[in-house]
Amino acid sequence: MTAKKIKKQIIVGFVALGCPKNLVDSERMLALIAQAGFVITEDADNADVVVINTCGFIEPAKTEALAAIRRATGRKQKGKVQKVIVAGCLPQRLGKELFNEVSEIDAIVGLEYRDNIANIIKKTLASENIIESVSPVSRILYDDRVRLRITPLHYAYLRIIEGCSRKCSFCTIPAIRGKARSKPKRLILDEASELVASGALELNIIGQDITSYGRDLSINNALPDLLIKLSKIPRLRWIRLLYLFPTGINDRLIETVAASKKILHYFDIPLQHINPQILKAMRRPHSKGRIIRLIENLRTKLPDCVLRTTLIVGFPGETDARFNELLDFVRWARFDNLGCFTFYPEKGTHAAELPRQIPDRVKQHRLHRLMLTQQKIAFEKNKARIGGTLTCLIDSIDKNRTAKGRFFGQAPQIDSLCIIKNCTAHPGDFIKTKVTGTSDYDLLCKQI
Ligand code: SF4
Repeated sequence: MTAKKIKKQIIVGFVALGCPKNLVDSERMLALIAQAGFVITEDADNADVVVINTCGFIEPAKTEALAAIRRATGRKQKGKVQKVIVAGCLPQRLGKELFNEVSEIDAIVGLEYRDNIANIIKKTLASENIIESVSPVSRILYDDRVRLRITPLHYAYLRIIEGCSRKCSFCTIPAIRGKARSKPKRLILDEASELVASGALELNIIGQDITSYGRDLSINNALPDLLIKLSKIPRLRWIRLLYLFPTGINDRLIETVAASKKILHYFDIPLQHINPQILKAMRRPHSKGRIIRLIENLRTKLPDCVLRTTLIVGFPGETDARFNELLDFVRWARFDNLGCFTFYPEKGTHAAELPRQIPDRVKQHRLHRLMLTQQKIAFEKNKARIGGTLTCLIDSIDKNRTAKGRFFGQAPQIDSLCIIKNCTAHPGDFIKTKVTGTSDYDLLCKQI
């Protein structure tokens, strides 16, 4: 290739924001951009075109996305970047309003136009006009096969369902991503085989609520049946279930997990709250008793199971007594991993209009108290692992041969890690380790 030809190539800087669902969209877009002959860089400051795939379903994500967009438009004003394209949830949610927030954007790309990204880049480069490719989400099914992966090769995210048909009063996702649409099993199995062929040993099963898988197709127990099929893929070692709606976890699913050597005894169950009045105001369909029975059932049938949850504090109407009930529940449940957010009244949601909104300083105080309560539990649980052995999947290793890995109870990106000094393994290796100590939320391990 001559130097002249290299100079002519358009460099696309890609900024991938948001959750694993958005990451799958980013990986798909990256593959399409590469297939169209563009050169891709992570260094968005020095690209010809910047594509920012945004998340916009909660206010902090919107703030982060707007900061990334303004950084890119700032480079454009300095003549360093030619075009700025914004894709994903934020344009899907705001549409043209996004131009009021940042006027120098050249194109907005809604969720349904994801697969047109390469053409949109070309059109944007060829025109001075603003390009708007946003339409209300329909029942389109995304085909996520052929991706340029951002994750390390040894793990990947596998989306089995898009959108959500539940009605949680605080959540904008159904409005942004539409009702639940399950991917056909054949498509999922093809995609899973493709991911495994490209090196994935761990598949993280995702969707807004994976327990709804198959319901829109009127198929009962579709998730356990799918998991059994996925388990048969040779070379795949770990299958991890993320985003399990509590009422969707039935005995058939628990038995399927218990009977499988590949499906990890890891349950990520966003519970949001435990007080009955708050659950009702959140429009969550389950009772406190049902959640307690679910946790007891999981721990009885799978004594080694690791439980993760997500909670919201400061929901409208959360009195001190209701918050204390949540704290007591956290002390009782002893989750292994826990994420907590303060409630934010998202525009367009029912919860934003509810009376008895909680002042920010109270929300922050409750968040702090809850996280301190959980920290004590997490540290105790970590200490109890000292002296035991764990199989770790190595994620990375530095020049001093200190590896970062995860045992089955640690999901990528969101949970703590195992730190292994003097490690002789490589990323993607499974190794046996002995737990020798703890460091904050992480486990210190020795290769054995
Ligand atoms: S289940 Fe999750 S994604 Fe669906 S509405 Fe409730 S919080 Fe939102």
